Amino acid sequence: MTTTAPDCVFCQIVAGEIPSTKVYEDADVVCFKDLEPKASVHVLAVPKEHYANIVELSANKDLLAAVVKAAGAVAKEHARGEFRFLFNTGESAGQSVFHVHGHILAGKAQSEGDLF
Ligand code: 5GP
Ligand code: ZN
Repeated sequence: MTTTAPDCVFCQIVAGEIPSTKVYEDADVVCFKDLEPKASVHVLAVPKEHYANIVELSANKDLLAAVVKAAGAVAKEHARGEFRFLFNTGESAGQSVFHVHGHILAGKAQSEGDLF
């Protein structure tokens, strides 16, 4: 397992090399606002270590649980604890950044036809 990957945009956000609007951070996880929000609450929950997708992350149960816990904390603060938690896995399923991230979605969709 590698902890970071070269040219990975989310590794660069974790390292503070690319700016982001962070709403939550602990030792293992960072949550920041999506650049192109699809809902009034659209935050990405990202483990600091690099895993390509949620299936790979499942090898590290503690870290997977930490991501879920972080999402719950964000939703508690921003959406009364109620949210959709979405992991696109693979290019054909809509994954465009290959550092695992859960989309925390809540509130109102930003435009008609959006998934949320
Ligand atoms: P995916 O399509 O892989 O499920 O989700 C990737 C998400 O990351 C997209 O919703 C996209 O808007 C967001 N994203 C891509 N690059 C950046 C970035 O540099 N900063 C932030 N905050 N979000 C990003
Ligand atoms: Zn990465």
